[in-house]
Amino acid sequence: MSMCEDSLMCNFPKCRAVLSGFAWVTACSHAFCDQHGSGEFSRSPALCPACQSALSGKLDIVRTELAPSEEYKAMVLAGLRPETVLDISSRALAFWTYQVQQERLYQEYSLSRADAQMKQMEKLLAQQNQSRELELNAMRGEIASLKKVMEDYKRKYSDVSERLMERNRQYQKLQGLYDSLRLRSMVERDGRAGAPYSTGTPLQHRCRQTGHAFAAPSSRALTETGSSALWTPAAQRDSSTSAPLLPKARAFPRKQ
Ligand SMILES: [Zn+2]
Ligand SMILES: [Zn+2]
Repeated sequence: MSMCEDSLMCNFPKCRAVLSGFAWVTACSHAFCDQHGSGEFSRSPALCPACQSALSGKLDIVRTELAPSEEYKAMVLAGLRPETVLDISSRALAFWTYQVQQERLYQEYSLSRADAQMKQMEKLLAQQNQSRELELNAMRGEIASLKKVMEDYKRKYSDVSERLMERNRQYQKLQGLYDSLRLRSMVERDGRAGAPYSTGTPLQHRCRQTGHAFAAPSSRALTETGSSALWTPAAQRDSSTSAPLLPKARAFPRKQ
């Protein structure tokens, strides 16, 4: 609370109540609210709560009315010589001036303390910001390295799946080769047993592994194309010559 222009404040430590009604004033130029004055000055010896001066004189402590009546103002200095009146007035004004100066010093002290606190807080905040920034940078670094690790894994995964696809292709080729071998051996066996192939009706065979049904080509067709197309290693074969004779082999094996 700042000091009002026309009021003093209680000088009791940490009270600072605006004085009104009655106030306790001391010879050491201190003033107190009615509550603190009546409490502090009832015991003896009386000490000023603001400056610890001993107040033993009869007029060292006065309880005064701050807004005296017109009658009181008319009579209190009546009959006194002008220099006495002026002396009393100047002493009263000196009391007031001292109080105002004390209040200003107090305000300046409070301001400088608040300023120092603010600077301290700013410093602390700057330090905290700096440490947050450091933490953030460390986290960013961590994220970047984790991303790199993830990229490595992705690359490895795509390599592995590439290899798997290659293996599947090889498997498919082998399966096709196997099916055609089986077919050929069945045809040959059936031919030896006198099967009715000669009628020209192709028999339906079913691959045991794939379940695909396919028509057995005549043994003549096999002897014409088989030796060249079927029995050459896959790597040497042209894909266009190897494909048509064989049933579509089993697709990619199911994942377990
Ligand atoms: Zn007080
Ligand atoms: Zn005092």
